[in-house]
Amino acid sequence: MAGTGPEPVNLVDLKAQYASIKDELDAAISRVIGKTAFILGEEAAEFEKEFAAYCGAAHAVGCGNGTDALELAYEALGIGPGSEVITVAHTFIATAEAAVRVGARPVFVDVRDDTLLMDASKVEAAITDRTAAIVPVHLYGQCADMDPILEIARRRGIRVIEDAAQAHGAMYKGRRAGSMGDAAAFSFYPGKNLGAYGDAGAVVTNDPALAARMRKARDHGSASKYDHEFVGRNSRLDGIQAAVLRVKLKRLDAWNEARRAAAARYDGLLKDLFDSGRIRRVAAPHHCRHVYHLYVVRVPDRDRVFEELNAAGIRAGMHYPVPLHMQRAFAGLGVPEGSLPVTERAAAEVLSLPLYPELTDAQAHRVARALRAALR
Ligand SMILES: *Cc1c(COP(=O)(O)O)cnc(C)c1O
Repeated sequence: MAGTGPEPVNLVDLKAQYASIKDELDAAISRVIGKTAFILGEEAAEFEKEFAAYCGAAHAVGCGNGTDALELAYEALGIGPGSEVITVAHTFIATAEAAVRVGARPVFVDVRDDTLLMDASKVEAAITDRTAAIVPVHLYGQCADMDPILEIARRRGIRVIEDAAQAHGAMYKGRRAGSMGDAAAFSFYPGKNLGAYGDAGAVVTNDPALAARMRKARDHGSASKYDHEFVGRNSRLDGIQAAVLRVKLKRLDAWNEARRAAAARYDGLLKDLFDSGRIRRVAAPHHCRHVYHLYVVRVPDRDRVFEELNAAGIRAGMHYPVPLHMQRAFAGLGVPEGSLPVTERAAAEVLSLPLYPELTDAQAHRVARALRAALR
């Protein structure tokens, strides 16, 4: 593409990562094909063990994607018609969509203005006698404020399900994302910190009975071949995805460190813009180990800045520009605009800058320069 300027800086770049592990990955994929072990099988079982251990939990149940992981967890915890699930509207639609799929009603509480994570001080007021679970979302790669959330849940006899789809490897006061609630849902969508080469997901839990229930539920309610104990579904982890995930899991900590380093680079490059208040950073409290699934800044004239960045070849993102209570899909919930002011303001301001483990210094400089130019 002569004469068209430098290559764009993409929000996510999976090619660089593939190049760094190509031989091992290709061999792992060939191994699965050689064994024709395409659905579940040994690779999936090994991955489940390795991923549970990584999270500091007893069990992992692999499934088709992160949305199914949420649904499997909700269902296995008895959340269904008549139940309410307290969660946030500043998240990907799947968090609440999965609740609706099992027949429950999502109830949204606002997020904190500093971290954009669930505001634990708003939870208690949202509890009714129908509340079955609290679902904090570890958005952007850092954990929600779990101690007060777990305390409220324990005291009120409510379950906690972590939506950890963006937080593989994140820590909260020394505990791993996924090890704190009754269950945690992970997505291995390709662009996530731990991504497969297709759709994949898992539920992590310390409860053996819950794990056993979900293992059956993901495979047609099968207790054994030809014996279906209950009506389940088909949401199994496939062998090729499991093999890819096993190769990548070994590198996850190093990749997360590289993400943190890239984020620290942005922090330095943008410091004067943060100090002057021209843009705002999303707070990263010290008791959290943020794994930077996304590096998000808040910009008042976000839509214009987003357009200008993209025109300059900087493929920024927005996570997420429309809060869930303002999505057409959830109009039926009847939650009016204006009822979640912190969420609504954040949705208008958030801008995700390109971030992935292989992002170079030169790319970070280009992004910072382009952002600076767009802000003028
Ligand atoms: C990606 C994601 C999901 C859903 O995962 P899929 O694998 O795409 O179904 C759920 N919640 C959050 C917060 C996510 O980012």
